[in-house]
Amino acid sequence: MTFPLIAGTELAQVRRLVTEIPGPRSRELAARRAAALPHGLVSGTGVYAAAAGGGVLVDVDDNAFIDLGSGIAVTTVGNSAPAVVRRATEQLAQFTHTCFLATPYEGYIAVAERLNALTPGTHDKRTALFNTGAEAVENAVKYARVATGRPAVVVFDHAFHGRSLLAMTMTAKNQPYKHQFGPFAPEVYRTPMAYPYRWPSGPDNCAAEAFGALTQLVDSQLGADAVACVVVEPIQGEGGFIVPAPGFLTMVADFCRERGILLVADEVQTGIARTGAWFACEHEELVPDLITTAKGLAGGLPLAAVTGRADVMDAAHAGGIGGTYAGNPVACAAALGAFDEIETNGLLARARDIGELMVRELQSIAASSGVIGEIRGRGAMIAAELVIPGTTEPNRDAVAAVSRHCHDNGVLTLTAGTFGNVLRFLPPLTIPDELLLDAFGVLRAGFATL
Ligand SMILES: *Cc1c(COP(=O)(O)O)cnc(C)c1O
Repeated sequence: MTFPLIAGTELAQVRRLVTEIPGPRSRELAARRAAALPHGLVSGTGVYAAAAGGGVLVDVDDNAFIDLGSGIAVTTVGNSAPAVVRRATEQLAQFTHTCFLATPYEGYIAVAERLNALTPGTHDKRTALFNTGAEAVENAVKYARVATGRPAVVVFDHAFHGRSLLAMTMTAKNQPYKHQFGPFAPEVYRTPMAYPYRWPSGPDNCAAEAFGALTQLVDSQLGADAVACVVVEPIQGEGGFIVPAPGFLTMVADFCRERGILLVADEVQTGIARTGAWFACEHEELVPDLITTAKGLAGGLPLAAVTGRADVMDAAHAGGIGGTYAGNPVACAAALGAFDEIETNGLLARARDIGELMVRELQSIAASSGVIGEIRGRGAMIAAELVIPGTTEPNRDAVAAVSRHCHDNGVLTLTAGTFGNVLRFLPPLTIPDELLLDAFGVLRAGFATL
């Protein structure tokens, strides 16, 4: 079968601005959008996509942007990665949908087998597929509740778990995720995250004190026998790429095991090669009972998964878990293509190299700019937290100014953080070094304007 590979790796890997930003065709689309879409649906950029691949995104006016966001950590293997396009196209030609609950197919099983083998731990595992990260998180909680017979869910400050009712309740931040969308789901309890940079008594006390707060919540306030699971992002994504203080996650895992509480690692953002390992849990030798994946799983198609201990996953009754589209065959084919791309192109090592390059560039910018408070993250998931020089006070304005400079000069960046003061970098792992260096040159110029 042949097909036009318009947006594949043959897309010229250069930054190119040929109109004002946004250009005339993007502005036309913006006008149509304003009349057709609710105004609360906002986009980070005013330019409209026409093609993407490697490390560039070309807009409808033929401007080429360097992509440092991967559509929020989704196109880890690049946009239109050849194996993803080939497998998804072949599947499209066979059948688009049967509903796995009605008539099953092989691709679903193959994705489950891969996730069972790749996720941390050598224990017997099972995988169920879904469409979105929020759906995976919701279903991980369902599995944890039915397996333990307990109601409560413990989550952390700065957490992001999605936008459906339960996932939104589990998310920490009011604006924009929760404001006036309540009442929220019951039995969700929050405890401090071990966030070294902002820990009141200093980073050295962070792990022990945050752990103390968790044990106090579970043992004194809730009672361990009421707690089904603790849900944690091994590196908090939307919260600002917060890497928990060393040792914290291991203490949490041991505590959960002692009390029969299930540990759920939400790896929707960190998973599937992003941090230079298949899963961020591996950096701390953490073996969670359940693990959620989505974003990077299927090379841009919507697919999500809960992978976990066989005894936990088998506890749900027949027909209790599923969804009409869950584990769509085209998305499953795409996921198998994404796994191939990661393995055949050595993308785990590539993620680590990209991380080293980004940290080096950011450190060099920090040497001549007083606003970078901390550089952190792992692999191709790196952030800079910006502060008022000489303080740890969040500097939202600097993030806005640098982001705008990047955008106007052909570099797409993302922001994050509870205080909106974090620049986060999540380039596709297919981006060439020259493009990355060009992008960080633009970023450096952005900092110089402050
Ligand atoms: C993005 C994200 C989600 C939600 O995923 P959706 O596909 O947007 O529902 C959940 N958890 C984490 C850690 C995320 O980064």
